Amino acid sequence: MAARIMDGKGSAAEIRSELASSVKAHLAAGYSSPCLAAILVGEDAASQVYVRNKQRACEQVGIDSQLHRLADTTSQDELLRLVNDLNHNKQVHGILIQLPLPDQIDATQVLDAVSPLKDVDAFHPANVGLLSQGRPRFLPCTPHGVQQLLHRCEVSIAGKHAVVVGRSDIVGKPMAMLLAARNSTCGPEVANATVTVCHSRTADLAEVTRQADLLIAAIGRPQAITPDMVKPGAVVVDVGINRTADGLVGDVDFAGVREVAAQITPVPGGVGPLTVAMLLFNTLTAAQQQAGNSTH
Ligand code: NDP
Repeated sequence: MAARIMDGKGSAAEIRSELASSVKAHLAAGYSSPCLAAILVGEDAASQVYVRNKQRACEQVGIDSQLHRLADTTSQDELLRLVNDLNHNKQVHGILIQLPLPDQIDATQVLDAVSPLKDVDAFHPANVGLLSQGRPRFLPCTPHGVQQLLHRCEVSIAGKHAVVVGRSDIVGKPMAMLLAARNSTCGPEVANATVTVCHSRTADLAEVTRQADLLIAAIGRPQAITPDMVKPGAVVVDVGINRTADGLVGDVDFAGVREVAAQITPVPGGVGPLTVAMLLFNTLTAAQQQAGNSTH
């Protein structure tokens, strides 16, 4: 039987509606509108679409947004000055630097310059440290989105074997940390997994992925996960977004793996919309924390 499709779009809409209520409550308590400032450097077409989607999503839940567009010739110092201004701007609660940045810019230095209190992407080393100690200030958007999706699709992973393919700082590593944690924003059932992390030097990838009850692909290679790599009845989450001549495809051979797995995320319409929703969640969290109106 073909796998059930995990509806990321629907779950993201649910989360946005919950966030819209929380934003209303924040305003009703007398606090100012949460505000996300996005910085976009250069003319990268995909980045422009991503930033526009994020701004539109902000609007839908009542979060203000600012877009700071800079030329692709912008210097490191100019960009750092803008980040510093936004760090000190009390109207701005969250700062997002759209990646990739042009070659003349040292992205690590710029990301590290964002105030940890406004670091809604959860990239700052201080926030990564807090996360690794199990007391996060902000949760990384894509991994948190995956957990929310699992929860909303009634997938329990406690005590199960999760295999994460990919070990990047943005997806693979924090994903593994969240899955192995004792608890999550959705309760202990979408945490407490036994986690294996794979990467390009993993000796026999298929041998490892076939052991996964939950398989998460964050590789960046079109359709790298084939049906023979998946245990029958597994839950398969495809984080990959690859632009090919045939359009957007994930890291999983969707048509093939769908015949083996119990549940699977599509691309597009899977993890992507959740990532944006969790960015809004973090922006509201940042506003609540800065206003002293926080349970976090
Ligand atoms: P990176 O390129 O930073 O990391 C890719 C990881 O995959 C690396 O750890 C790499 O291993 C591993 N890898 C590469 N090839 C293989 C292979 N043949 N076998 C096993 N492992 C391999 O990518 P990101 O983590 O940033 O992103 C991954 C994918 O997710 C991309 O398609 C990206 O576009 C997408 N993405 C989607 C988001 C969403 O919202 N849906 C958000 C963020 C990213 P090694 O470390 O050894 O090099």
